[in-house]
Amino acid sequence: MDIETGHRKRIALIAHDARKDELVNWVTEHRDTLLRHELLATGTTGRLVEEALQTPVHKLLSGPLGGDLQIGALIAEGQVDVLIFFWDPLAAQPHDPDIKALLRVGVLYNIPTASNEATANLILTGLLAVMDG
Ligand code: PGA
Repeated sequence: MDIETGHRKRIALIAHDARKDELVNWVTEHRDTLLRHELLATGTTGRLVEEALQTPVHKLLSGPLGGDLQIGALIAEGQVDVLIFFWDPLAAQPHDPDIKALLRVGVLYNIPTASNEATANLILTGLLAVMDG
């Protein structure tokens, strides 16, 4: 990732159903920071984030209908800077191959990726430090 001072970042947000509340709480807690960036998300996650933050989110398809793959394609095209993906560690997903594909391109293209709040906080702190620095 090529972080340049002062630039808005494109942050992709995805949460599986069991972790949507956690993500909504996280975005609400970090509202001021997140509003400085562009937000995109899978369908249902995006709708919930829009409601929570009262700000437009670029919404893709719902994850099980191809939204994860769309975000993966955007990563491959260089259109995503950060991936916040709260995936469910306790339940199998029907679109597991799509999830694997998304995580694979995230690693391949060196995208900072968080699957829990601890890492998401570190990424936001890092972005702030770079952008303010
Ligand atoms: P959703 O998709 O935001 O549309 O629920 C997330 C997912 O299941 O990958």
